[in-house]
Amino acid sequence: MKQRRTSHAAHGAAQTAQAANGAQSAANVAAGDARRSIACEISTWVDARAAEYDAIARDIWDHPEVSHFEARSSAIYRERLAARGFAVQEYPEMPHSFCAVKGTRGPVIAFMGEYDALPGMSQACAARREPAVEGAPGHACGHNLLGVGSLVAAEALAHALERAGVEAQVRFYGCPAEESLGRIPLVKAGRFDDVDAAMTWHPADVFTPHRYTTSANLSLVISFQGRASHAGMAPHAGRSALDAVQLFNLSIEFMREHVAPGTLFHYVITNGGAKANIVPEFAAVHLYVRAPTAAGVRDAMVRVRKAIHGAELMTETRASVSIKAGKCDYIPSDAIQNTILEAMRMIALPEPSAEELEFARELQKTVAPEDRKATLLPIGASVELLKSPLHLSIGDFGAGKRIGGSLDTGDVSYIVPTGQLNTATWPLGIGAHTWQSCAASGGSWAMKAARYAGQILALAGALLALEPARLAAAAKEHRKVPRYRSTMDV
Ligand SMILES: [Zn+2]
Repeated sequence: MKQRRTSHAAHGAAQTAQAANGAQSAANVAAGDARRSIACEISTWVDARAAEYDAIARDIWDHPEVSHFEARSSAIYRERLAARGFAVQEYPEMPHSFCAVKGTRGPVIAFMGEYDALPGMSQACAARREPAVEGAPGHACGHNLLGVGSLVAAEALAHALERAGVEAQVRFYGCPAEESLGRIPLVKAGRFDDVDAAMTWHPADVFTPHRYTTSANLSLVISFQGRASHAGMAPHAGRSALDAVQLFNLSIEFMREHVAPGTLFHYVITNGGAKANIVPEFAAVHLYVRAPTAAGVRDAMVRVRKAIHGAELMTETRASVSIKAGKCDYIPSDAIQNTILEAMRMIALPEPSAEELEFARELQKTVAPEDRKATLLPIGASVELLKSPLHLSIGDFGAGKRIGGSLDTGDVSYIVPTGQLNTATWPLGIGAHTWQSCAASGGSWAMKAARYAGQILALAGALLALEPARLAAAAKEHRKVPRYRSTMDV
């Protein structure tokens, strides 16, 4: 009897476990179904609006505006989002910055869009060097695509959440001047403080979550004031500001060997005096300090300040320092990057037409084979990829890697969990800030890849909003990130 009861109990327990497993697997199936249906909804909805999005990307590519002058581009986004029910607020911290918000309750999912171009990079959508307007700016960093991809993300996520009856606040941050000051004033003003997940993307030559970190930097101009005198008649009466600049630069050259690994210095002399027979009373040097982390930049700056003071003492001149810009390193949130990768595997990659493939092949040929590796090696992607003109699969590159360049997304990543991806808007081996990337950014393939980026960000946003465990994991992980302090506050 006892045995029977035991076996009955065991049977009951097994039944309960089975039922629990069944319920669990039913829940898993339901969650999988919900994910697939939202992926399908986002992908179909965006595809139906492809022409509208491509027209915006092309319009902004046709009308490039440099940092701090993006009045037209910013207005295009503000007007469109306002017409689609987003509440738009312009920010006083930077001209042409704004935030567009839809939804009032639930987690805050933010997308960041950029729209500035680069001076002097004008280029036709052609496979040979051919400025559209000689000397004019051009979208050689693909920010005409970047803004549109993030716009797609915000609109598609707002739509998908409405359809699914899920509450979340969707935000599009209009982030001007990425190529100079960046969104640091917005970060410092607390504009991102209540965000649960911030996401963006960047045009590139591969499809991958942005696993790698970026370098922190600080851009500063050091000016020396000396005393002018006739260089032949009374050199002893003068105090050369140019001497101070040169001695300072020399100290930087010697310092390179004795700073923490990964610390970089680069400089140009922006003012070296007016005439050789006048002892220069004024001279200036523009210096960039880069390091793996924001703290590393601050450490290097302690040494740089000593070198400035040393140059003053040696030359009896007075120095003044003007901080121009500074960016923190980017700390990717694994929880968000993993969600982005999951989303990438749920929506089919775009397919290039025969003409798009041909254009990519012709553009790729304009970069020397040796130079093509430069985009792939730093992020740990195989150079075997270069056998094709376009990357047409999903990669997962960059874990544990750091690039020498800097991103203003870095400052956001110190404040809130942040994730991003790259999509292959450009042929393999084409790097940013080249005439080739400008040419490619005006083409139809680039726009397909930008819309894909938007679909992925929208789907990642939906997964984060639907499954709170993901945001909880991102928040937990973010507690390990050091407290934010802008590198500009040295
Ligand atoms: Zn860029």
